[in-house]
Amino acid sequence: MKLATKLIHAGAEPDPSTGAIMTPIYQTSTFVQSAPGKNKGYEYARSQNPTRKALEDALAVVENGKYALAFSSGVAATDAVIKLLQPGDEVIAANDMYGGTYRLFTKVFEKFGIVFKYIDTTNYNNVAAAINSKTKLIWLETPTNPLMNITDIAAIAEITKKKNILLAVDNTFASPYLQNPLDLGADIVMHSVTKYLGGHSDVIQGCLVMNEKELREKLYFIQKSCGAVPGPMDCFLVLRGIKTLHVRMERHCQNGEKIAHWLRNNSKVGKVYWPGFEDHPNYNIAKKQMRGFGGMLSFTLKDDSIENAMRVLSSTKIFSLAESLGGVESLINHPASMTHASIPREERIKNGLTDSLIRLSVGIEDADDLIEDLKQAIG
Ligand SMILES: *Cc1c(COP(=O)(O)O)cnc(C)c1O
Repeated sequence: MKLATKLIHAGAEPDPSTGAIMTPIYQTSTFVQSAPGKNKGYEYARSQNPTRKALEDALAVVENGKYALAFSSGVAATDAVIKLLQPGDEVIAANDMYGGTYRLFTKVFEKFGIVFKYIDTTNYNNVAAAINSKTKLIWLETPTNPLMNITDIAAIAEITKKKNILLAVDNTFASPYLQNPLDLGADIVMHSVTKYLGGHSDVIQGCLVMNEKELREKLYFIQKSCGAVPGPMDCFLVLRGIKTLHVRMERHCQNGEKIAHWLRNNSKVGKVYWPGFEDHPNYNIAKKQMRGFGGMLSFTLKDDSIENAMRVLSSTKIFSLAESLGGVESLINHPASMTHASIPREERIKNGLTDSLIRLSVGIEDADDLIEDLKQAIG
C-alpha cells in the first residue's frame, strides 16, 4: 500500500460497539472487569487506552515500524529513551540539536551519571572517533534545528549495528512523509508529534517508533511506569492530523523551496540554510535519505546586528512570531532568544547559531503572500 492510502487508513477500525468510522475519544480512566484480572485488554488508562492504541497503531504504520508508543510530549518521549540507560553509560549526540533536548540531557540526566558527548555528527569520522566501550546510544537529529545540517543515518547505523549501540533519530523536522529512519537502520525514531504529525498547532505530544519487540517492551514499561502518556482527546486530534500529512507536506515543501530561493536572491539577506540547495554541504545525503526538503529554513541578514533581526521579527504580518513549527500557519522565530535560549551563548555561536539567525516554519498559505510579507519585513 502507498503512503497516501496508509495515512488515511492506518490504525482506523470502525468502532466495534457502534460502527462509528472515526475512533471515539475514550475519555475514561478505568475499564470495568468481569472478574478480577478478566478484562477486554484494557485495565487502567495510564497503561492502555483505545484511542491511544489506534493512534499508536497509525504512528507505527506511517513510520514503517512495527510498534509505536505515544507520550505526553516530544521531550517525554526522549526522556523515556534515556531511561533505558544506566549511570556511567555514554551518549553521543549532535551539537546543534533542539534546545529542549540539550537541556534535558545536560540539566536533568547528567546528574544521574549519564555522560553526553556533543559532536558534529554530519562528519562520520567524528562519530566513529567518539565511540568507546561505554557508548550505549547515539542520538541524531536530522535535519537539525535550526541550522538544517544533515547526518547520514545509514552510515551511522552501520557503525552502531557493528558495535551493538542503540541508534535513535529525532525525525521531527522531516516527518514520516519525507524520511523513515528505521528503513535506514535506526533502532528508534522519535517525533515531536506536536509539529508536522499533529500539524495544526493544537496539541503537545511525542512518540517513539521501533521494530524490536524487546525494545518495545522496555520502552512500554517506562511509558507505563513513569506515566507521561497523552490524553485521549489529544490522541484523537493527532489521528485527524495524520490523515492530511501528505497533502500538507507537499505544500510545505513547495512553499519552502520558493521562499528559500527568494531569500537567497535578496540583497539584504546573508546566508540561507536550506538542505535543498545544491551547494548545501550535505545536499547529496539529504537527497539520498529524504523525499523532499520540507518547510523549515533559517537565514541571517547582511546587517548582522541583533537590532536588525529584532526589527524583521516584529514586522511580519502573516508569519506569526512564535516558538514551534510544523503547523499549517507560517511562524517566524528567533532561536537565540526563544527556542535555543537554553544553550549557552558561547556554545551556540561556536556551532554557527548566531544572534541574528532567523528561523521560518513555512506554512501552507499562498507562497506569494508569504514572500510579500517577508519582503515588507526585511525592507
Ligand atoms: C519541538 C521539538 C522537540 C520537543 O518536542 P515537544 O513536543 O515540544 O516536547 C524535540 N525535537 C525537535 C526537533 C523539536 O522541534
